[in-house]
Amino acid sequence: MQTNFTIAQLADPHVAESEKILRKCVHCGFCTATCPTYVTLGNELDSPRGRIYLIKDMLENGRPADKEIVTHIDRCLSCLACMTTCPSGVNYMHLVDHARAHIEKTYKRPLMNRLTRGVLAAVLPYPARFRAALKLARLGRPFANAFDAVPALKPFAAMLRLAPATVPAASATASPGTHVAKGKKNGRVAILTGCAQPVLEPGINEATVSLLNRLGIEVVVPKGEGCCGALVHHMGREDAALDQARQNVDAWTREIEQGGLDAIVITASGCGTTIKDYGFMLRLDPAYADKAARVSALAKDITEYLVTLDLPEPQRKPGLTVAYHSACSMQHGQKITRQPKDLLARAGFIVREPREGHLCCGSAGTYNIMQPEISARLRERKVKNIEATGAALVATGNIGCITQIASAANIPVIHTIKLLDWAYGGEKPAGLPAAPLLAAE
Ligand code: SF4
Ligand code: SF4
Repeated sequence: MQTNFTIAQLADPHVAESEKILRKCVHCGFCTATCPTYVTLGNELDSPRGRIYLIKDMLENGRPADKEIVTHIDRCLSCLACMTTCPSGVNYMHLVDHARAHIEKTYKRPLMNRLTRGVLAAVLPYPARFRAALKLARLGRPFANAFDAVPALKPFAAMLRLAPATVPAASATASPGTHVAKGKKNGRVAILTGCAQPVLEPGINEATVSLLNRLGIEVVVPKGEGCCGALVHHMGREDAALDQARQNVDAWTREIEQGGLDAIVITASGCGTTIKDYGFMLRLDPAYADKAARVSALAKDITEYLVTLDLPEPQRKPGLTVAYHSACSMQHGQKITRQPKDLLARAGFIVREPREGHLCCGSAGTYNIMQPEISARLRERKVKNIEATGAALVATGNIGCITQIASAANIPVIHTIKLLDWAYGGEKPAGLPAAPLLAAE
């Protein structure tokens, strides 16, 4: 694609980066076929190619964002299916991140939209606040239908509906400390505690720590870790995202320098995509660029890390049929496609892949709150495809997808690591259906 930026515009490193990305696009439109918003809405401006044109026009003309561009960029899920499809290697992720930061700086959103986004940014990344908000949401749930009647309050209705009926107690794996390896020590990793996941489903990191310890891996929860920054990053709040990234880089750098780390293990693929991008996000900060690149290189999804270990034979042969849902951040963001399925199959699960596996389930961070209608249509499509597999349960590696799919599916949705931990001798995940071989336990 031809671009017309001035020398002065290109002096801004963010513009220079976006120009490089724009020039790679050859307008072929292959990406439209796999874009969930184009597939759902059928509007070229809600396709990757359409959004690329809108962003190009805004940046080239040095214009502040307007209502039209904000509408179409806000509808983008950042699922990155377009990057998997694109034959020209267009880095849509970095382009849309830049566009969102530009929107945040130049566009004044309507009051309720600002308020909702402000509440999400102030609450979700902080586990104590999020826990308190979920308890409040339980009380507010009966008012969800009333909120739905007012368009500006729909996000609050979506929040109330997504809030779980009960909030589990906090886990020891969410506090700083070291979980020592059982038997001979084979390695040492840090684990990201994260923000929403340890509140909604503390059992995910508990299963991870338990399995890794049994495999001889010491797991450290470093002091000072926090939210990965993805949530505010996707809102265009660049300064806040970079602050959160720096805080984590500091925490993990201390561990790398003191005890050494083989990996930084992540159990939410949405966070993994962002942490693997820290090297790029902090490339312009001389104090952090190298440290961030080192952290990104060590970041591994738990399944990516597990396949590097010498796994024993599983202690159970579950014999359950599992529909594997690959989160967008797993398959498109991190290009991890094989490892979770291989691990599940090796552990004795029968793995089925739902049709249209490349399409997002509609969770996408806060998308299911901010864009509840599109999100609900995508969820419905996803659940239909999952249920058509005839599987007894769904396995996936991202808390956002678990919450989203579980809110509509009739079968349990369980994190992949909990199934693996159980197969290798750990605790049985709650809600696991009975299967012929389970009767023998
Ligand atoms: S990130 Fe997803 S929703 Fe956004 S343009 Fe790409 S394919 Fe479409
Ligand atoms: S597939 Fe790639 S090159 Fe083709 S229009 Fe989409 S982004 Fe551009």
